[in-house]
Amino acid sequence: MEVRPLGNTGLKLSCVGFGASPLGSVFGPVSDEEAIDTVREAFKLGINFFDTSPYYGGTLSEKVLGKALKAVGVPRNEYIVSTKCGRYKEGFDFSAERVTRSIDESLERLQMEYVDILQCHDIEFGSLDQIINETIPALQKLKETGKIRFIGITGLPLEIFTYVLDRVPLGTVDVILSYCHYGINDTALEDLIPYLKSKGVGVISASPVSMGLLTENGPPEWHPASAELQAACQTAAAFCKKKGKNISKLAMQFSLCNRDISTILVGMKSVEQVQVNVAAATELAHGQTDKETLAEVEEILKPVKNQTWPSGIQKS
Ligand code: NAD
Repeated sequence: MEVRPLGNTGLKLSCVGFGASPLGSVFGPVSDEEAIDTVREAFKLGINFFDTSPYYGGTLSEKVLGKALKAVGVPRNEYIVSTKCGRYKEGFDFSAERVTRSIDESLERLQMEYVDILQCHDIEFGSLDQIINETIPALQKLKETGKIRFIGITGLPLEIFTYVLDRVPLGTVDVILSYCHYGINDTALEDLIPYLKSKGVGVISASPVSMGLLTENGPPEWHPASAELQAACQTAAAFCKKKGKNISKLAMQFSLCNRDISTILVGMKSVEQVQVNVAAATELAHGQTDKETLAEVEEILKPVKNQTWPSGIQKS
C-alpha cells in the first residue's frame, strides 16, 4: 500500500485510511468479532491509519476500535490513530474544559496512552472564534502533555479552514479533514490545496463515495443531498452497473489519484469492504484505471458538479 506524507507532521499515512464510524454500528450492527477481523484485515493489507470520534455511535466507535486494535496486537508505534473532540451525542462543546476532559475519556475508551491526531470535530457548528482563541490553545497544552501529537480541524464548508488558518500562528494546526469535497461529483477541495500546502497543513479527505451517494445501494435516508444530486448519482450508479462496473470502486480510484491528499478515509465494517477498497488502490498502482467509464460518469454528473448542502450555524 502506498504511503503518503501528511503535511509537516512527519507521519506517513496509507493512502487508504480506515474510517471507523461504522464500528460504532452507525451503518448497522457490527459484532466485536467482525470488528476485530476487519481491523486485522486492514493491517494485513497495509492500512496504517484509523480515524474515529467520541461522536460516532455515541462513543461506541472508539470503544470497539480500541478493543480491536488491542486484540490484533500490532505495536502502537506502527499505526496512526486520529480521534476528535467538541462533538458528542449530547451536542457540541468546544470549551477548553470539555476538550481537555474529552481526550482523557477517549484515551480510556481507546485503551491508549496517546493519539497521533486530535481534531476539533465539525467546527462549523461552533463559534470559529472560540476554536481559534480557546479550543486550539487548549489542544496545544495537550500536545505538551504528550497525550496528542498533532492538532486538526474538520468540517464540511471549505471556508471554515481558511477562516481558522488565517488567524492562528503558522504550525499551530497540523491537519485538516475535509469530507464530500473530493470525489467524482465534487472536487471543490482541489482549489484549497495550494493554500494548505503554503501553510504546511496536511490534507485528509473523507467520504469518497459521498456518504453513500456513489454506491449501487444508494445513500441512507438521512442523506442531506438534494433530490437532484441524489438522482444524478443513482443514474450514474445504474449506468455503471449496466456496463458491469462498480461506481464505488471508480469513486475510490478517482479520489486516490490526487497525491496532494495524504489519505482517503473510507468507512469500513467488514473484511470484504477492506478488500474491495484496498483492491481499488492496488489496481490503480498498477495503472489499471477505467478512464472511459470515468469520463462517461463525469458527463452524467456534470449538471450537479460541486453541488453541496448546508452544514453548521448559518451566518446571519
Ligand atoms: P463513506 O463515503 O466513506 O462511506 C459511506 C458508506 O459507504 C458506508 O456505509 C460504507 O460502509 C459504504 N462503503 C464503503 N466502501 C464501499 C464500497 N467499496 N462499496 C460500497 N459501499 C461502500 O462515508 P463515511 O463513512 O461517512 O466517511 C468515512 C470516514 O471518514 C468516517 O468513518 C470518518 O472516520 C471520516 N469522516 C469524518 C468526518 C468529519 O470529521 N467531519 C466526516 C465524514 C467522514
